[in-house]
Amino acid sequence: MDINEKEKKLLAVKEAYKKKEIRPYYQPQYDAVTNKIISAEALTRWIKADGTMVLPVDYIPFLEESNAILELDWYMLDAVCDMLKRQREQRIPSVPIAVNFSRRHILEGGFVELLCETVNRYGISHRLIKVELTESTFIDNTDEVERFANSVREAGFSISIDDFGSGLSSLSLVKDISIDELKLDRALLSRNCEDEKERIVLESILTFAHRLKLVTVAEGVETSEQLGFLRTCGCKVIQGYLFAKPMPEQEFWQLCLKETQDAEIEDILKIQAVSSAHQLLIDAIFMRYPLVIFSNLTRNSYYMMTYENFSATSCAGSGVFEELIQSGSMTMHPEDQERFRTTFSIENQLAAYARGEKVISLITKQLGDDGIYRRVETSNYFVKHPSVDDVLVISLCHNLD
Ligand code: C2E
Ligand code: CA
Ligand code: CA
Repeated sequence: MDINEKEKKLLAVKEAYKKKEIRPYYQPQYDAVTNKIISAEALTRWIKADGTMVLPVDYIPFLEESNAILELDWYMLDAVCDMLKRQREQRIPSVPIAVNFSRRHILEGGFVELLCETVNRYGISHRLIKVELTESTFIDNTDEVERFANSVREAGFSISIDDFGSGLSSLSLVKDISIDELKLDRALLSRNCEDEKERIVLESILTFAHRLKLVTVAEGVETSEQLGFLRTCGCKVIQGYLFAKPMPEQEFWQLCLKETQDAEIEDILKIQAVSSAHQLLIDAIFMRYPLVIFSNLTRNSYYMMTYENFSATSCAGSGVFEELIQSGSMTMHPEDQERFRTTFSIENQLAAYARGEKVISLITKQLGDDGIYRRVETSNYFVKHPSVDDVLVISLCHNLD
């Protein structure tokens, strides 16, 4: 495209803003468990006077070449806030709306100020706006992105990373930057979740995201096979043609009205996916047992999960089992140390397992952070993994006092 042509195209876009030919369409996002609309993504559409529709692919890449994309994004945010305001006036139930922002905004000074100014002008609660940035935003300038993300979240907006898994970003990057939501790239679902490798990748990303307490969104879900698999992995939110295509405001409002009125309150315990049931179970276990240790006696190794600082001397999260018993015994009252070491020695536990015992329990006095000894019960349960012969133990520990 030569310069003149670009100028012309840019002028045409600016004219379209004025005539309100460019406007948001809304694609609902559904709770994977309850099937209710819980949010939506605003996607730009250019509808010309003669009714023809221009899709983003025909103008976004062009606008992305320069800072002209910034203007589109701010225009879209304005239009979304205007919609939310009118929706509230009509007493139609509203849900948070994700607005796409180009990575160029990171370099634009005063992003948060303009974001707040626009949203406040319409009197919209900040929790109703999700700032959606594509994964590529996060690849370089980590410090800058971190500051950007923090300031957006401190102002009460949530951040979603779009197209996750499409590029080169590493999972570890996500742990360093504070965000709220991860949207899986559509390409990750390209094989309809029938391919073993695809399933492993999806499952790993979802497990990782859930451990970081991120909301997970699958985009471009078109088939019930994809939906089924995503549910078993505990994916939280579903967006895609299977449920709904991007739609104009009026249609979206109808859906907001209908879905909230019609939605039957189903028993969450009956319809949830197995993995989310497991997550609830784990939450309950941690309420009762703040320290859980998985050990492999055959391989002299362990892996620890704790949601509280359970003892005054903290042990490594994973490592050699015998060292754990040694360092664990040092947090006990001197009278109990030897008994603890003997009871939980590998030798003694393997013998108990060989005798067919299911559990070994011991009560000891353990020193807390505050210098006070409290009685602690440790129960070691022998468990069997279906595909390995190793002797595995799950230890559940809790305070009795
Ligand atoms: P995106 O942000 O990844 O948006 C998702 C795209 O996937 C949308 O395309 C949506 O219509 C499409 N989609 C959703 N569900 C399905 C499905 O089940 N199957 C298939 N095949 N497609 C599905 P759309 O609306 O054409 O937007 C394309 C891209 O344009 C967006 O990709 C986004 O990167 C960009 N874009 C759209 N609106 C804006 C905006 O306001 N600002 C900026 N900076 N970019 C925008
Ligand atoms: Ca998006
Ligand atoms: Ca996307």
